[in-house]
Amino acid sequence: MTEHTKVDHSSDNLDESMPSTPGPTVLEKSKPRSANMAAKKVECNACPVLCQITGGRTGACDRWGNVEGVLTRVDSVILMRRPVGPPADTALGHEGEAAAHQGAAATGSELVPETDLFVSGVGSGTTYPDYKPAPFIVGSKANGVDMVTVVTEGIFSYCSFKVKIDTDRYLGPEQSNIRHKGEIVGHVTTAEYGSQMLSLGGVHHLTGGSKKEGRITCDVMMALGNKQAVELTIDGGAQLVVQAGKAPIVDGVEEKRMRVGCGSAAIGIFAKQWFGHTDEVVVVDDHITGVLSEHQAGRCLDIRPSGIKMKGRKSTPGRYFQVANPGNGWGGTDITDPLSIIEGFDPEVAWPGLRLLITSTTGEHAEYYELDDALQPQPKAMPEALQKTVERIGENCEPSLASVLFLAGAGGSLRAGVTENPIWLTNSIKQSLVNVTCGGAPAYIWAGGGITVMVDVMRMPDNSFGYVPTPAIVAPIEFSMRLTDYERLGGHMADVQSVADVLARADHRVIDWFDAESPWPIAGRPVLG
Ligand code: SF4
Repeated sequence: MTEHTKVDHSSDNLDESMPSTPGPTVLEKSKPRSANMAAKKVECNACPVLCQITGGRTGACDRWGNVEGVLTRVDSVILMRRPVGPPADTALGHEGEAAAHQGAAATGSELVPETDLFVSGVGSGTTYPDYKPAPFIVGSKANGVDMVTVVTEGIFSYCSFKVKIDTDRYLGPEQSNIRHKGEIVGHVTTAEYGSQMLSLGGVHHLTGGSKKEGRITCDVMMALGNKQAVELTIDGGAQLVVQAGKAPIVDGVEEKRMRVGCGSAAIGIFAKQWFGHTDEVVVVDDHITGVLSEHQAGRCLDIRPSGIKMKGRKSTPGRYFQVANPGNGWGGTDITDPLSIIEGFDPEVAWPGLRLLITSTTGEHAEYYELDDALQPQPKAMPEALQKTVERIGENCEPSLASVLFLAGAGGSLRAGVTENPIWLTNSIKQSLVNVTCGGAPAYIWAGGGITVMVDVMRMPDNSFGYVPTPAIVAPIEFSMRLTDYERLGGHMADVQSVADVLARADHRVIDWFDAESPWPIAGRPVLG
């Protein structure tokens, strides 16, 4: 029979439409460490900084404070409540649940099955390096199987954020430094299809440069992880405002559309729709500029050669590289006049009156021309049928977003908080016996050695990230597995406690599970063995 746990929401201020995590208890920041520690100070041993904290104040990271002489993690640990079904599902035995789902029981107390509560690492606290068991080692049941979740906050020096910016605009040369407040905090990395990629943070900027570089890098990383907007400047490139889940702002202009594909892909997609309405189409793109009549898609439609002569380097028929320099003009190039990439028309092949459409890969730029008697393109009003195809290109562009992934190495000492024999944790993760989550969000585990995790910050609760001034980033991480497997891998069995114990002993907050795409962590992976 499922155990029910009384959850007191009286101070939660739950907002059903916008789940959020709380701010810290307000304490003043403590003065720097002094050799003569006053009697009322407490020493925080949660990280190597060893702050000595006077009463009513917090240490350097604002995470630990001296509350009436007791070292206290000032943020509440966040528990998540499994989503409930529609009101008809009350047969599941969730007392008061239907009402809560409708937002009517946001205050007061209710009974929730323990199996419907997940203790996350957000606000859980830990030591660094880990010299004692993780702060919460929580036993529970899933499908009748005894499970355990080891809950902690990882303190990561080896970590970074990979940022994907959906734009074809030129942000700057690959490998260029990226700065915040003048300090180097990352670099431009390999572009992907329709997106520019940045790598921000990392151990070399956190600890390998000046103190200021480390501090500013840490600030940028924490803000990105906490879904805040960050201003960045790329050497030799653009100024950006980047925020997870929001449209990027490039040189002061909010990006709207992610390109439908490269110029060649666009020709492939729309060739049939252009057929009969124009004689030639050029799709301008910084990567591959497409030319309909030469492209295989045009050949399949028996489109008559137009005699067009393009600038740039011909790759394969109808596909041209480097027609212009990268920039913020048409199709991620620096051109503002589309005719500037056309050298001319072969008089043996072209004919007066030839109809020519030139468009960008987002449809934001498009012009229509007809050749005059001297075979010079003359701008004309775009026929309605062609206008519709340009609008169709725009319709097929997805909204431009900045995506932020946290990438971190959890293969160090934090494993000691989980097990006495850390390699068994590493091996168990590789064998899919352990489900790794960060603030409940599913983490991708990189193949190879160590425990290198990658997680989308948008799937994590707000304000999941903190820092310590070593400097390093603090992030929640949870390891869920069968209790029998935990015992086998040398887990701290004496420290296993129930969800009810956590609720009784720890300052906590309960929020609703808010990412419908994320599987429930304790049942989210088939249990092997
Ligand atoms: S920086 Fe934070 S975690 Fe480290 S000793 Fe100070 S209060 Fe504790």
